Amino acid sequence: MKIGKLVQRREIPGAHGGGAIVKEGQYLKVIDVDGKQICDFFSFNPADPSEFLSGSHTRVFLGQTLEAPTTIAVGAPLLDNSRQPMLFVEEDSVGVHDWLLASCDSVRYWADYGLSNHRDCKTNVIEALAEFHIRAPFVPDPLNLFQNSPYNEQGKFQLFEPITKPGDYVLFRALRTVLAVGSACPQDQNPANGYNISPIAFEVYDPA
Ligand SMILES: [Zn+2]
Repeated sequence: MKIGKLVQRREIPGAHGGGAIVKEGQYLKVIDVDGKQICDFFSFNPADPSEFLSGSHTRVFLGQTLEAPTTIAVGAPLLDNSRQPMLFVEEDSVGVHDWLLASCDSVRYWADYGLSNHRDCKTNVIEALAEFHIRAPFVPDPLNLFQNSPYNEQGKFQLFEPITKPGDYVLFRALRTVLAVGSACPQDQNPANGYNISPIAFEVYDPA
């Protein structure tokens, strides 16, 4: 599709977080730069961060089926936790994501892998918001872009490497001004990121 000029590119280093303001009508391209890297993705109302992108509210709106947590719907909006449209999914070069599982945090690394001082997505989001002088009341559930965690016949999820190639992306249009936040997930203790933590890029474009 036709979009306008690039106004900002921000590369989020692997295992870190970052954000960008996307004004109403602008586009946000979330890019898996090297491939096989999850981006835990969040979107907030920068004027009131208690309004945030919500998978559960979007699923109600879309009447989403049990198969759908492994994808997002191109050509449909994503809603916030007050059921207002926030972002519109324009393009998705991958088609495999996760809407259900929590972000990694320090407890996950300590309790499940015996690791202390491991970077984690929850902390990355808090750090990314601090850059915008926002202290969120809590970290919402993520949209885990590029995460490949399908469900088997017993309904249990399995974590596989992402199927993404370098440069794969999702393109959103902002239906109102948002603060988009991404964490290049530091999870290197299972195949979720192909055991190679790499960057995510945010590109913001004007309308055509
Ligand atoms: Zn993570």
